Amino acid sequence: MTPNLFKKISKFYQELEPHLIQVEGNVCKECDCWECCTFAARGGDHAVAEMEFDYIEQYYQDKGYPQGDVQQFKDYLSRKKNDQGKLIYSICPFFDQKQHGCSIYSARPLSCRLYGSFFVEGFPVPDRCYFKTIGKKVKKNKSLEEIPLAFQFSELKSEHLGTKTIKKDRSALFNPDLSYLQTFDFFELYQKGGRLLADGKLEAAIQCYDEICSQYSNWSFVAFCAGTELIKTGHYKQAVPYLTQAVKLAQDNGFYHFALAIAYHFSGEIEKGIAAYLEAVRLNPQNAVAYEALGNLHNRLGKLEEALHYYDKALEIAPDQHESLFYSGAILMQLNRLSEAVERYEKAVALSPDYAPYHYALGVIYERLKKAEEAVKQYEDAVKLDPKHAPSYMSLGTLYLREGLNEKSEECCRKAVELDPENALHHFYYGVSLLKLNQLQKTEIELKKSLEINPSLSLAALLLDQIKSR
Ligand code: SF4
Ligand code: SF4
Repeated sequence: MTPNLFKKISKFYQELEPHLIQVEGNVCKECDCWECCTFAARGGDHAVAEMEFDYIEQYYQDKGYPQGDVQQFKDYLSRKKNDQGKLIYSICPFFDQKQHGCSIYSARPLSCRLYGSFFVEGFPVPDRCYFKTIGKKVKKNKSLEEIPLAFQFSELKSEHLGTKTIKKDRSALFNPDLSYLQTFDFFELYQKGGRLLADGKLEAAIQCYDEICSQYSNWSFVAFCAGTELIKTGHYKQAVPYLTQAVKLAQDNGFYHFALAIAYHFSGEIEKGIAAYLEAVRLNPQNAVAYEALGNLHNRLGKLEEALHYYDKALEIAPDQHESLFYSGAILMQLNRLSEAVERYEKAVALSPDYAPYHYALGVIYERLKKAEEAVKQYEDAVKLDPKHAPSYMSLGTLYLREGLNEKSEECCRKAVELDPENALHHFYYGVSLLKLNQLQKTEIELKKSLEINPSLSLAALLLDQIKSR
């Protein structure tokens, strides 16, 4: 967590204090039930935010306390069970039994702070709780509008999102933490938008999102969430105005710029996409996915050196990001830097051994390095993983052809033709493999097919002439 955000959250907690019920002395000590610490954080109206876990971790670090309790806290919140099916923590692990109190009191999450001052109607408050009758009762779906500083808390959560290291996991983008929206009365309309999108009713969904965004025109997170819903369903162009609004309201949020970049990127606005990705990485240099996207877009524009530079930046942050290894390997191959390319492909294969195209690509580069045996192994692995991987069959076919293994070659080329009959080269090499087996008639058929698909395939025309003149 950045020191600046830590300070802002501390300030937020301080500003919240006067809005909470203030009592003389420690009434909780007198109550001595501490039932709240068996469910305050996990049974309240909203979940503990990821930002708050980071805040507690930072707090721990600053105090020089041992690390690790945050994970226990997460296990407590998620009601993690042991092998016997019993809750590992029935009481919050931060509860200090000796002191009869919270061991992280000044860093405790919002849900614990609100407990006592605000109760959602129907929430099972223990009878002996001092706050039971004086705590404000709030409705389930309006609670946060009635709770002070809710909006500010949401914007802090968005800022936290903008500073996180982003590796290959896109789920963070496509599944923003909506727990804070859930308690607002407009959430029903928001969900309706989602249902309409799922039913393919884009215009009606947009009406829902517009209504919410005009009602909360200064709330960047709402606009961001509407934009991500549209991204999730592939409506990138339609997502742009919402994400533009989010970026306008929170200009320093690198994550919003990143989301806008994705919307531009996949709606075909390459230059705008690049500009937004650059802004995203300027604001959050820990965004490996944005760097990779910059690599992809520069690659698409044929700017290979620039593309390589961005893939390298991505790999500095996330050395295990196998896609970046693979894409940069392909560029190195184009630049004829084969030994560097092979190193990256080998790493990509090691990190993602079940993905056939990586094995295929590694096979291709081994072939270029004249390592036929290694290449065969990779192609064979590829077809084992994906028995429909036509390029690997084709490569095996041509390799066997060069090795004089004609029957094996014919078998693989036939397979490639069966899997991808619209590829002229597949028919051509299948024809050549048949010729090696002296099957002239079949060879002629395949060569003709290859020329039907690609009349300018001169090698096929030449071979066909030779066969006819025999
Ligand atoms: S139940 Fe109420 S009074 Fe008792 S410890 Fe919890 S907050 Fe305090
Ligand atoms: S964090 Fe503190 S206040 Fe909150 S449930 Fe745990 S011990 Fe209680």
